[in-house]
Amino acid sequence: MLLWEIRIVTFITNLLLLVGYALLYNWLQNTKFTNNIHQKLRTSYLVSITIAFLILFHSASELSIIQNHNNTGFGWTYINFQIATVLYALLSSRKQALFYSLSVVTLSWYWWLPNVSNSALFYVVTLIMMWLAQRFGITIGTYRTLYYPFCLLFVTPFLWANFISLRGIDVGWPWELIITLLICWLLWEIHYLVKRQHIRQAVLLREARTDKLTHLNNFRVFNEDLLSAYSHLTDPLNYSLYTFDIDHFKQINDQYGHLVGNQVLEQVSARLNDILAQLPYHFKTYRTGGEEFSFILFDTARVTEHPTQIANLVRDELSQLKFTVPPDQKFNITISLGQDHVLPDDRNYMDIYSRADERLYQSKHRGRNTICVRPPMNTPK
Ligand code: GH3
Ligand code: MG
Ligand code: MG
Repeated sequence: MLLWEIRIVTFITNLLLLVGYALLYNWLQNTKFTNNIHQKLRTSYLVSITIAFLILFHSASELSIIQNHNNTGFGWTYINFQIATVLYALLSSRKQALFYSLSVVTLSWYWWLPNVSNSALFYVVTLIMMWLAQRFGITIGTYRTLYYPFCLLFVTPFLWANFISLRGIDVGWPWELIITLLICWLLWEIHYLVKRQHIRQAVLLREARTDKLTHLNNFRVFNEDLLSAYSHLTDPLNYSLYTFDIDHFKQINDQYGHLVGNQVLEQVSARLNDILAQLPYHFKTYRTGGEEFSFILFDTARVTEHPTQIANLVRDELSQLKFTVPPDQKFNITISLGQDHVLPDDRNYMDIYSRADERLYQSKHRGRNTICVRPPMNTPK
């Protein structure tokens, strides 16, 4: 009876350890480290915790054998957890360092295992299984029908070598196999729990950063991008901000209704992305207010080259959009636009926005449907 009690307690304790390992591994793999050093050391952390857990399971096994003064002991119950640790690590990460480190660990395990004359052969088969696990980890982790047979194949060389090593001592092999399947099932559930959580997080994050109506980036992203561009500024003239507002938009709402107004905002956004995609700049577009949009051209001194042409292109193209309201009303829109570059003496990341916005209002005061940009650099403001 004591044998079964120890088996069950050992099993539950190790199961909890394995769950802890899998969650820690996932966290280390996916967390966004703010510190660059941790970012660079991520693979080393993954390798280290995997080896640490393997050593832990192995030491527990050895101690259990010693404590029971019995070669069969309960030491072998830990082997499934060690195999599962190796399998989980490889299925979840494509890092080559992990493969090489675990190859060394399994080599030392086969070398240490007594009474197995052809352990080199077992090791080669294990290496192939390990390579397959890492190479096809995503596919194997997607289909249960692939995953479970693969798990059984993966554990086979380990258990077989162990079986030979024990020289016929019955350690309860059916129990071993049931535990193997239970562990595989548990790892599958953890894998899916984490995956679902990542998908949910990604959806929430996207929703928090995207304007629902136009699908453009919202003001929060605009703010972050301006701050980030300003903080990483190397060349003082390496990004340019354009901001524009639809003229007399309230009249459109009043005359045709808010739903039509919404359609205008959607079409303006889609067209803006199309126009900018044709230019040779890295850009991002934002809905910065109700009927106010902005775009930033990033990362090259060339963004200061043609502000007048770019601003006029956007204004002309948007004014050519045709809106139809059933039964037969048609209308166009116009915009007023302001632009500026980041300047060497900017004190704050929002300075560029204040100047561009000021120019937008100059455009409004000049009668709308017009642009106001920073003059070429050798011309006074
Ligand atoms: P101006 O030329 O001076 O910019 O005049 P305007 O009418 O465009 O500006 P105003 O600020 O007076 O009105 C903006 C309108 O935009 C008022 C607001 O109801 C409308 N608006 C803001 N967000 C939305 C939206 O998501 N959908 C719709 N349909 N209308 C919106
Ligand atoms: Mg307006
Ligand atoms: Mg406005």
